[in-house]
Amino acid sequence: MKMRVQLVIEDASGATTSTDIAAIERRTDDLIGLSLEEAKAMTGTVQRFMVEAQAREAIVQNSTCPECQSRLCRNGTHRIHYRTPFGRLDLDSPRFYRCRCQTSRRGSISPLALWLGAHTSPELQYLEAQFAALLSYGVSARILATVLALERATSITTWKRHVGTMGARLDREAHERIAAVPALNDFGLPKRNPLQAVGIDGGYVKASDAPSRQEGWFEVMVGKSLPRAGTGQVFAFVHLEAKPTERMERFLAEQGVFPARPTTFLSDGGDSVRQAQGDFRAFGEPILDWFHVAMRMTQLSQAIKGLPADEQDAPDHIEECLRTLRRAKAPVWHGSPHRALHTIEELTWDIGTESERAQALQDKLEEFMNYVMANLATIPNYADRHRHGEPIATGFVESAVNQVVSKRFVKQQQMRWTPNGAHRLLQVRTRVLNQQLRKDFERWHPQLRSDSDPVRMAA
Ligand SMILES: [Zn+2]
Repeated sequence: MKMRVQLVIEDASGATTSTDIAAIERRTDDLIGLSLEEAKAMTGTVQRFMVEAQAREAIVQNSTCPECQSRLCRNGTHRIHYRTPFGRLDLDSPRFYRCRCQTSRRGSISPLALWLGAHTSPELQYLEAQFAALLSYGVSARILATVLALERATSITTWKRHVGTMGARLDREAHERIAAVPALNDFGLPKRNPLQAVGIDGGYVKASDAPSRQEGWFEVMVGKSLPRAGTGQVFAFVHLEAKPTERMERFLAEQGVFPARPTTFLSDGGDSVRQAQGDFRAFGEPILDWFHVAMRMTQLSQAIKGLPADEQDAPDHIEECLRTLRRAKAPVWHGSPHRALHTIEELTWDIGTESERAQALQDKLEEFMNYVMANLATIPNYADRHRHGEPIATGFVESAVNQVVSKRFVKQQQMRWTPNGAHRLLQVRTRVLNQQLRKDFERWHPQLRSDSDPVRMAA
């Protein structure tokens, strides 16, 4: 069987031209339907004829003076490469002198360049961003090339530059995405905060100018919102590149948090996030993750069980120490960390420093006390919060951190970043993870909206 695919183009005057796109021959034992290569070749050819026809029309429309309608004089031609997901098009772009009625200067215009705008189509830019946010450039390029006729359409260098520019744009325009939320509800009462909490965490990324394997990391702040309904959104920024409070204000506003509604900020109380949590105090209440406290206490009880049992009274002694530790846990749960600290101090007297293990345990106890001291202000009455169904743990953030930072940034240890480069890619990445990037593109390129130009498929 022989099959021919034709493209018929009808111009404004009603005249039609048809072009052969593909001729395919199949016997019964041949491949069923299209092969990937045929599909790539066909979309590539259709794209070329479509864009060339559109370009001709755009050039004709813009080669007369809009004021006096006289034809503009030709001033040479140059070539424009237009990159699309269906291949790179090399288009002839005529230049015209500006009309004498418009200007006394002999400047020239290029209607095609004006019509095209950027030299990469929005759809290709969207694909570039979508893939770069999730995978390395090399892997992305290989995957895309198997399904699309991308030859010559993109290179990793251009791709990186596009994504960087896009990240900077997303960052710059963040304030435009903020929803204007009315402060009052339909009953004239202040609106409830739509978020239950925001969890924040930090990650480290290897700097491109790192002097050695151990040195040269910089910090990335990552977090996720826990809304009362629906799924949360992630945010990420590089500390060196952004003001944390400004970021948080935007992140909250974008989700409709009215500034006067306090938000709960949960973190594990580590050194890196404690600072940020303090900064966010202006927007609500910072709270230490309960499970991190509990986990540290479990580690302490393991260390106590590991104390040497060579003395006569050792088993009792260890039991006694474990009981004391348990006595310290309850006050933390009920929001009285000072009482817990007293109890742990008692424990340090009971344990002594006789053995090496006891010594090591003393260090751990001291570290724990320092941790509690550093986070005193963020230890709430967990029991109370828990009873009221309020979040006390950052579990919902940890997966977000892995999603945002580890996979793309850290796990690939060979990858090194500049703070600015990482920051910009993170802006694209979080928009992709939040499933917001398509909306951003539709805002930038209204012609991408699926409802603006309905595709009429042949029945
Ligand atoms: Zn004119």
